[in-house]
Amino acid sequence: MTVLSNARIVTPGGVLACGYLVIGHGTITAVGTGDPPAPALDLAGAWLLPGFIDLHMHGGGGHSVAASADDMAAALAFHRRHGTTRSLISLVSAPLDALARQLRWVADLVAAGPSGAIGAVGAHLEGPFLSQARCGAQNPAHLLLPDRSAFARLVESAADSLRSVTIAPELPGALALISDVRAAGAVAAIGHSDAVYTEARAAIDAGAALATHLFNGMRPMHHREPGIIGAALDSGLACEVINDGIHVHPAITALVARSPESLVLVTDAIDATGVGDGEFELGGQQVRVQDGQARLAGSATLAGSTLTMDDALRRAVIDCGLSIEIAAAAAATNPARVLGLDNLCGSIAVGLDADLVVLDDDLRVVRVMAGGQWCGVEAPQFNGMATSAPTTN
Ligand SMILES: [Zn+2]
Repeated sequence: MTVLSNARIVTPGGVLACGYLVIGHGTITAVGTGDPPAPALDLAGAWLLPGFIDLHMHGGGGHSVAASADDMAAALAFHRRHGTTRSLISLVSAPLDALARQLRWVADLVAAGPSGAIGAVGAHLEGPFLSQARCGAQNPAHLLLPDRSAFARLVESAADSLRSVTIAPELPGALALISDVRAAGAVAAIGHSDAVYTEARAAIDAGAALATHLFNGMRPMHHREPGIIGAALDSGLACEVINDGIHVHPAITALVARSPESLVLVTDAIDATGVGDGEFELGGQQVRVQDGQARLAGSATLAGSTLTMDDALRRAVIDCGLSIEIAAAAAATNPARVLGLDNLCGSIAVGLDADLVVLDDDLRVVRVMAGGQWCGVEAPQFNGMATSAPTTN
């Protein structure tokens, strides 16, 4: 049993000012305030949030998920240090053989469970069924029109580990493909799209349940043609936002959060994340990172981000003015609901997995727990708190 005390615990019902948490066998068994029921690790007033869940991640720490299964695991480990306890592995458009190979790596990681890579939920196919006009940094040579037999082949390679697919809803055959995605047990997302309002609404009516990085890689919103953005906001769709201060203005994130259950913070992080400026590659295209901004070499097109979930959350609170409850929901609870995992994780509540992030007053990560186990963060970063090893069983 592990007991944590004296924390500001962010729960679905609000913040517990001086809260305690009891964890047994990897699960939260009690949440309360005041004196803990057993000897506890004193968190000295630190914030305690549910572990972050990232629906959109291409790499980090110098590792691209397109390179190998080991790189996928290393990217997950990098993001775990930033509080992400579960993540989708996002694959950009590539030849079908390459995508099938990458999907098999994801399937192997998911099947291996914690011994493979803690927190690999499954794959997100960000392509190849996207708009040529709105492909962003994706290689237009690898885009395909919706193709049910090509998709069936990808589903087979994914071996039950496919969790979401981004589709441009205006393409011929998109609605049939959305039903195939749902039948495969995955979330149909709309994005990288030039869809007008009615086309996007038809996709939502057909079961699309997520907008991929709202505002980026899509037709802009116009008051006479609200387009895919207007359709997503109008229908209360879950909306990914890359809240790095570059992809969208902080006021846009705050606007999406006017419907608190809609906002889903994602990173869209590439391998350059945590590495610094330099030359990188995304889906076979050269990417230059300068001042933390990733763009296709020689162009102004943004090519993913160098964002981490802790930074996304911190910006949501400090720059966008969101409450910590709304920010925590956007970083954990809402993405868990999108994936249908909200009975397992995404909140601090009795019966859910003990996936936790300890944050200091400046909302910087102090410690991360996944499934009741502390992840490797060195003791010196645990400043101001009791540093005796927590007891576990
Ligand atoms: Zn992406």
